[in-house]
Amino acid sequence: MSSYSARRTALRQKLQAANLDALLVTNLLNVRYLTGFTGSNGAVLIGARGDDDVFCTDGRYLTQSARQVPDLERLIDRPCDIALARKVRGRLGFESHHVTVDGLDNLTKAAEKAELVRAGGLVETLRLVKDEVEIEALRMACAAADRALAALIGHGGLRPGRTEREVARELESRMLDHGAEGPSFSSIVAFGANSAVPHHSPTDATLHVGDFVKLDFGALVDGYHSDMTRTLVLGKPADWQRDLYDLVARSQAAGRGALKPGARTGHVDHASREVIEKAGHGDEFLHGLGHGVGLEIHEAPALSKAGDGTLSAGMAVTVEPGVYLSGRGGVRIEDTLVVRESGPELLTLTTKELVVV
Ligand code: ZN
Ligand code: ZN
Repeated sequence: MSSYSARRTALRQKLQAANLDALLVTNLLNVRYLTGFTGSNGAVLIGARGDDDVFCTDGRYLTQSARQVPDLERLIDRPCDIALARKVRGRLGFESHHVTVDGLDNLTKAAEKAELVRAGGLVETLRLVKDEVEIEALRMACAAADRALAALIGHGGLRPGRTEREVARELESRMLDHGAEGPSFSSIVAFGANSAVPHHSPTDATLHVGDFVKLDFGALVDGYHSDMTRTLVLGKPADWQRDLYDLVARSQAAGRGALKPGARTGHVDHASREVIEKAGHGDEFLHGLGHGVGLEIHEAPALSKAGDGTLSAGMAVTVEPGVYLSGRGGVRIEDTLVVRESGPELLTLTTKELVVV
């Protein structure tokens, strides 16, 4: 059974539990997750019984969909949601978190024979726990980022006078060299005091000896995103830089150590945050601890103070505490990991020792 067909089978159990006869999947990422289709327009109707799934796309994707979705009945029509909704009798779930108000009007007119039922987030619930095919894609995405950073440093890419923009461009181009389809988000490259801005956009600021260099970046492989932050120092670190780095590293290790199946997401955040609070820097840790990562760069589960979710084996998350000293500099250390029964599997393998370039 292909992983796509296994995912559709798992979804069917959810449809039966929700007493739905079918689910109209219109969120393109969910369509990709369930079918393998990567085009820009498509939808899939998943039946509760398993013999009536139908995939729909338009004529531009006739050839591509034949290759990517060989195992489902295919409909070439548009708009796909309307064409598929017309086919259903009974209780038809739709992705209420994704359908617009106007879209719902059109759907209601088309689904004359069906009763429309809000069923937002059903596929996302399945996507929380990654299968091994997904984890392998994440592993490759993380490896591309690891290799790009090693090559950037190895080829002298971090040297005085370079701008944040130049380093961001080089990092992204090196990820492409190492198998990425693209960067998984706009890279954050921050030198010196700019490193105290958690989501700094690269500028023409130049690198100086003694600067922190904060790099938050990731690669996209098979649609899966990696996410890693490393903070380095150009030249000999000052004592305050070393102390700040050691603090964030201890906090990050505590967060990783709390990643266990059954752990509450709020507890994982607390385990890491507590280390920083005890050192008197709680107010300078300005964001949640981490987030799920997969077909989206930010997806469930969120690891945050208020988090009331529970971790399961197979979830892929980031652990990324940071302390930001306004006007001076900041440190963030971020890994992408998979929650496992035997302890978290680290996917971003670049060293977390303080790298001095
Ligand atoms: Zn990141
Ligand atoms: Zn992140």
